Amino acid sequence: MGNAWKHFCTITHHKYLVMKGCFRVGLYRQGLLHDMSKYSPTEFRVGCKYFQGNRSPNNAEREEIGYSSAWLHHKGRNKHHFEYWIDYSLGKGRLLEGCKMPTRYVVEMLMDRIAASKIYEKEKYTDASPLLYYEKGKIGSLIHPETRVMLERFLHMLAEMGEDKTFAYIKKEILKKK
Ligand SMILES: [Zn+2]
Repeated sequence: MGNAWKHFCTITHHKYLVMKGCFRVGLYRQGLLHDMSKYSPTEFRVGCKYFQGNRSPNNAEREEIGYSSAWLHHKGRNKHHFEYWIDYSLGKGRLLEGCKMPTRYVVEMLMDRIAASKIYEKEKYTDASPLLYYEKGKIGSLIHPETRVMLERFLHMLAEMGEDKTFAYIKKEILKKK
């Protein structure tokens, strides 16, 4: 199989899992449009050229040219990444800071992390996997504190109560969808 086909399958499988999660909480538009820019020539070509199979092609591009053109293109267009929301600070002392993300994009970020964990862990995946993955990684200080708290709350809830209860809570109480 060529890398273009393998990369296409990887991003489409991921997109399908995110879509299933988003649909369960009533986020139909976001479920359909999630990560669409990965199919744009700018991002797709990099994904093929640096296809790895077990890690992000963006990291391979970073190692080779010092930055990831695909990621810079991606984060500027996809609102479920907190990096999209980094802006100049008007406060003293800081140059950049994370703005508070609209709730529906925090939820999409959760679905993104669940899908990534499912693909990475395969049959070893449990409802606690996304939380463990989050705790292993360092999200940094450029995410808005309230956004961080909300994401962590969802991840803990998922680990303790599972998808059915967490998704029902998000749909009815957080997003207030019928
Ligand atoms: Zn994305």
